[in-house]
Amino acid sequence: MKFAMSNGILSFIRKYPDETACIAAIAKLRWADGFSCSKCGSTKAHHLKSRPRIFECSGCHHQHSVTAGTVFHKTRTDLTKWFLAAYMMASDKRGVSAMHVSRELGMRYDTAWLMCHKLRAALFERNGFELKNFIEADETFYGGYREKGLRGRSKNDKKATVVLAVEKVLAKKGNREWIAGNARIEVIESADATTLTDFMTRNVAPKARIITDGWRGYNGLKDAGFKHHGVIASGPAAGEHLPMVHIMFSNLKAWLNGTHHGVSKKHLHRYLREWNYRFNRRNGPVAEFVLNRLATRTGITYQALVG
Ligand SMILES: [Zn+2]
Repeated sequence: MKFAMSNGILSFIRKYPDETACIAAIAKLRWADGFSCSKCGSTKAHHLKSRPRIFECSGCHHQHSVTAGTVFHKTRTDLTKWFLAAYMMASDKRGVSAMHVSRELGMRYDTAWLMCHKLRAALFERNGFELKNFIEADETFYGGYREKGLRGRSKNDKKATVVLAVEKVLAKKGNREWIAGNARIEVIESADATTLTDFMTRNVAPKARIITDGWRGYNGLKDAGFKHHGVIASGPAAGEHLPMVHIMFSNLKAWLNGTHHGVSKKHLHRYLREWNYRFNRRNGPVAEFVLNRLATRTGITYQALVG
């Protein structure tokens, strides 16, 4: 029954209704095998009533903050708000803006902004995850503006170059209907052969079949061991050969410019990572998976964000 789904927002709120429940959840995630004191190895700890995020070792009385070394490190924001923001970011296909989080959760905009970036930084693909079989790939520009007289892939420092590769999966054998599998997207310094070959080598399984346009930046793919097919076409016809990446680029830009009102080149890679992460998990609930990431990894600092 559709309406009996157990991973909606209501069940999420019931599961993490208050600070105590969130602390317990973080403790369970970061100490997966139970509490263990880093000083004396004791497995017994008790809570300090006045500081519920502190676990005091029953053996040596060393105090452990449940949030130390996690993305929640030293946060003064309610953990329930963190959890809900993680839920929103993980669940909403269009993603959420800092403005939206600030309004929905009753937070100052700059607090929400930092929180969103910390959440976003935690959403990244694990290493060693490769795209397989049949791949469609292309690059696009984002941001800035195209200077007069410059065409195609010419250099423009205000624009970021973005490369995308997506698996084409045959949905129905009979009528050759393709659907998107997993994708990889990155900001690259330039669309030259060295950079594009490096991107494919890092993200695509050896011997995979890659279809691109006729850009010379893809000329190194054959030597790198891929089965490469470059379609020589320009203008409106080019899109027909690479339908999937073009739809994805257009959805991506709508998200960057619509939900986020445009994104600067400096922060673009983090937005792409979030978008990529959610795209690859678009068919399943991801909130709990995100919480696991948050509780078991250190967060990006404000200095690293603005530096
Ligand atoms: Zn101890």
